[in-house]
Amino acid sequence: MVEPRVYAAMAQPIVGHLDPYFFQISEEIRGLLATAFGTSNQFTMAISGTGSAGMEACVSNFVEDGSKMAVLANGFFCDRLSELGRRQGANVVRLEKPWGEVFSDGEARDFIKREKPNVVAYVMAETSTGVKQPGKAICEAAHEVGALVVADCVTALGTMPCNIDETGIDAAYSCTQKGLGAPPGLAPVSISPRALETLRGRTTSHKSWYFDLKLLDEYYGSSHRYHHTAPISMFYALREALEIIREEGLPARFARHERNHKAFVAGLEAMGLRMFVAPEHRMWALNTPCVPEGVTDLAIRKRLMEGDGIEILGGFGPLAGKVFRIGIMGAGSREENVLLLLDRMESALRAEGFPPRSSGVEAARAFYSA
Ligand SMILES: *Cc1c(COP(=O)(O)O)cnc(C)c1O
Repeated sequence: MVEPRVYAAMAQPIVGHLDPYFFQISEEIRGLLATAFGTSNQFTMAISGTGSAGMEACVSNFVEDGSKMAVLANGFFCDRLSELGRRQGANVVRLEKPWGEVFSDGEARDFIKREKPNVVAYVMAETSTGVKQPGKAICEAAHEVGALVVADCVTALGTMPCNIDETGIDAAYSCTQKGLGAPPGLAPVSISPRALETLRGRTTSHKSWYFDLKLLDEYYGSSHRYHHTAPISMFYALREALEIIREEGLPARFARHERNHKAFVAGLEAMGLRMFVAPEHRMWALNTPCVPEGVTDLAIRKRLMEGDGIEILGGFGPLAGKVFRIGIMGAGSREENVLLLLDRMESALRAEGFPPRSSGVEAARAFYSA
């Protein structure tokens, strides 16, 4: 959901892409983004494009022909990371786990030490499964073998702590339309000093001109040299969305996401639904209850959509038909939304022949008042 303040910001008159006012905005965004990522990286900026543009930037700047890229693969976006690496000419090696599981510290370490890659990539919050992946052991092992770490923080940013400095992440990327609550269109990225050193020492020319971070730094950074025409209105939107986050405060925002997630889960479980992901590995922003036996996910989704215009998603790939994917994030993470959704899911499930074991709404209410 996009906050009304963000829409209003987008309606402001645009300035030129080299206007001092634009650079003032992009500097404000740099600072606010760094706070949200949990970093002191000076090289923090919003790239023109959606989250996948951030992914492409983070992969293509640090991988080249013949590089070895190690991917911890347990979901759809890990596969996209692998594909991007392959297209850059990397030798991509993967440690695979079934969708929905996480890599233990030991598994990640053994894999990285065995493979000795140039780059390690993982997804902090896998939107295809609802799993969050701890990164500290991954980063430590990667640094021991001299590798950089690329982390997908797309759904994590603004919904859970990213702590990229403390974790040791070298290149993090995200998007504007998930946890930040702005429209799609920009990709926040943050690059560590260690990764910058690698970048500056790179002797081969970058295959992508648009995502060349050195060129982008010349535009947004000190020299303000024209590179491309930044989508000014999206910068207004992102600044406003980040300002809303600053006003709420990150700890309060994370606590809100956690609380609404837990209330929702309490409601789902009371109705007799089972969560796909083990409690300790669940993201707060994206919930994946299993589709109950005898019910088709599409029928439930259609009822919600046609009845109240509530859009929830289904699983895909190996999880097609097996889970619902329900985003409760940003401005949408609110008690009234959780209660409304549980109420409508209850009716839809009943209509599809799955009478809820007990009231999900009552269980969520009890959670909120406890
Ligand atoms: C949505 C998403 C992406 C891709 O972002 P787009 O904005 O759709 O390009 C990448 N990784 C994860 C984990 C996502 O959820």
